[in-house]
Amino acid sequence: AQTKPHYRRVLLKISGEALMGKRDYGLDTETVAAIAQDVADVVATRAEVCLVIGGGNIFRGISGAAGGMDRAQADYIGMLATVMNALAMQSALEKCGVPTRVQSAIPMAAVCEPYIRRRAERHMEKGRVVIFAAGTGNPFFTTDTAAALRATEMKCDALLKGTQVDGVYSADPRKVADAERYQELSYLEVLSRDLTVMDAAAISIARENDLPIIVFNIRAPGAFAAVMRGEGKFTRIV
Ligand code: UDP
Repeated sequence: AQTKPHYRRVLLKISGEALMGKRDYGLDTETVAAIAQDVADVVATRAEVCLVIGGGNIFRGISGAAGGMDRAQADYIGMLATVMNALAMQSALEKCGVPTRVQSAIPMAAVCEPYIRRRAERHMEKGRVVIFAAGTGNPFFTTDTAAALRATEMKCDALLKGTQVDGVYSADPRKVADAERYQELSYLEVLSRDLTVMDAAAISIARENDLPIIVFNIRAPGAFAAVMRGEGKFTRIV
């Protein structure tokens, strides 16, 4: 049986691809607005929310688009892509009346705040949503790892990973008809079975810091709020 968690402060990780909607590339404003509304609904319950947004909808360091470019250089382009997504999400959240700050791991003074841990925490205490941009600020990392890192730094009660499917399955549910969704997995099970939920670095940070990871479908309207109440479909990694 699934226990009813109550999360006071969470980090929501959204992949860049979740912002594409039906497009093949870039941002779909309606999709961004819908996710912002879900975040606004959770903020209205007085939960403290911070976000990490990926950049895969624009650029991925190891993708074909990088075309043999030096990996570190390509990764910096990927990190800049996450800043664009963060600014788009900030606009969408502010349209919903949610005060929002963007903090970038790569300082960009004219565009947003630099990442300052204590200031980010203060923003959240005041009910502002903080969007952490530019990943970890380092090449060879992913925004999943940035999400685990920031969630730990912010003392979040959970890392919520919004994906395109409603949890972790024994096989790809879009391809295998009788694929089963796990209710709960241990960090070690995810690592040893090589389940492609999050990269190993992210899982390791979560494991070392007892940070529960909740995998759910961000596309389902209201799913974020449901997960916050401990309802709906998801997989818990603990
Ligand atoms: N990236 C990086 N360091 C980080 C986070 C991201 O170099 O700490 C780069 C990397 O090239 C990655 C890209 O930014 O491919 C976009 O991030 P990610 O692939 O994690 O985005 P998502 O898959 O969540 O959309």
